[in-house]
Amino acid sequence: MDGETVETGVARPLGERLRGWLATGRRAAAAAVRLARDVALPTLCVACRDEVAGDGVCARCWNQLSFIAPPCCPRLGIPFVYDPGPGLLSMQAIAAPPAYQRARAAVRYDDVAKRLVHGLKYQDRTDLAPTMGRWMARAGRELLADAHVLVPVPLYWRRAWSRRFNQSGALARVIERESGVALAADALRRVRPTRQQVGLTRTERAQNVQGAFQVATDRRAEIEGRHVLLVDDVLTSGATVDACARALLRARAAQVDVLVFARVVESFQTPI
Ligand SMILES: [Zn+2]
Repeated sequence: MDGETVETGVARPLGERLRGWLATGRRAAAAAVRLARDVALPTLCVACRDEVAGDGVCARCWNQLSFIAPPCCPRLGIPFVYDPGPGLLSMQAIAAPPAYQRARAAVRYDDVAKRLVHGLKYQDRTDLAPTMGRWMARAGRELLADAHVLVPVPLYWRRAWSRRFNQSGALARVIERESGVALAADALRRVRPTRQQVGLTRTERAQNVQGAFQVATDRRAEIEGRHVLLVDDVLTSGATVDACARALLRARAAQVDVLVFARVVESFQTPI
């Protein structure tokens, strides 16, 4: 039926106007929904910037991340080749025991993990910290249950100034929110500048950070007798967290554990 032939001269313009208003209303509502969706949900993968539903990483990056899961050495947190049952340590933990008691990492330090670490550290991608910190809180559940206080590995003041923020501090703040364990930012200080650890041998790394850290005199009460959980982004040779753990133990911390986002795993360990 041809509708126009039955409409009166008055009703037709009114009907058209109504249809026009409805269409405008529908377009405005659709735009509002799009805007709300764009504002409410980050739609880019934090690692590769591809579009993703929800937040975090896309399926492809997720599949490329190697989350560290048990069985692993109870002290170093390095994966075992097989599950030896509780209590057995890796050869490395026995041959060269670190100053800290236990270390845990969320992921292995490979391509995608490296991209996340570098984004946070050098590109001011502070939007990465919540995702990385949440994964750390999960990997460090056992350590967080025993921890009284979180201490981020500090930067030397000059580097902190030029980079504007400390990536370990940003991760520690997320872990504080996730776990409820208090954060003692700035209790541990880097008292002298150190060279970048990249490119140094294991021995050079240890020498480079020896004596570089100290608990501030006016912050010792937050450390003395407490279980400290040291937070850093990456564990390579372990020289930095070891030097930090020594400084915390000198300030009479009862125990120091270490939680990092990623750790280098050269090879899976054989339990002995
Ligand atoms: Zn991705």
